[in-house]
Amino acid sequence: MSKVISLENVFLKYYDNCILKDISLTIEKGEYVNIIGPNGSGKTTLIKLFIGDLKPTSGSINFYNYKLSYVPQHLHKKKNMPITVYEVLKHSNKVKPSDEYIDYYLELMHISNLKHSKMDRLSGGESQRVYIIRALLLNADVLILDEPASALDQEFRHEFYDFIEKLHKEGLTIIHVTHDLSDGLRRGSRVIHMDSKILFDGSFDDFQNYHQHHHDELEGKIYHV
Ligand code: ADP
Repeated sequence: MSKVISLENVFLKYYDNCILKDISLTIEKGEYVNIIGPNGSGKTTLIKLFIGDLKPTSGSINFYNYKLSYVPQHLHKKKNMPITVYEVLKHSNKVKPSDEYIDYYLELMHISNLKHSKMDRLSGGESQRVYIIRALLLNADVLILDEPASALDQEFRHEFYDFIEKLHKEGLTIIHVTHDLSDGLRRGSRVIHMDSKILFDGSFDDFQNYHQHHHDELEGKIYHV
């Protein structure tokens, strides 16, 4: 296994507020990692460290030259973005993706009908799907999805996660962030449960055990498996 990213005793503070406390973890190539925790527990902050947007206040972080592609949860809606979905996707990569490839992904994400729509006309969920496709077209080694289910209709979620699973089987490393345990936690995946610090880091099966034993603590914070 080769490392994608590793953190050692990382602390991150905003002024006096300690958002991340003593985080040590390594993500290996080919893993499917779920990062879970209640709102405000520091998940997005952790991801910002992964992509180099933030630096730790103390501790160290190592990168190993893999290409990470991040689909943020909250996309700032640009009021004046008269460019179409197709144009965004076509120009997502220096090596322009073929139209067949673009059509394939649009179909897969159930937004073929929006191909020629202007980006500033899309809903939050629709534009997140466009950005997921764009991340895939970038041929990244690691796909980071921040609360992707929030953009998806209930009936499409299952299909979406099956698709992510398929990409994972093809070799893509997945980092999936969620506060909702009913979303996308698959057998065989790794679960990191955090609330500023890491509370649990292990397999999905061990997590279910842990979840049963810490039911009262978790109750009300995050949903059930
Ligand atoms: P999560 O993704 O788990 O909901 P975040 O990482 O977004 O959590 O936020 C963790 C905490 O850090 C929250 O209390 C949030 O208010 C705080 N925070 C996030 N960004 C900033 C910032 N730029 N300045 C100050 N506090 C911040």
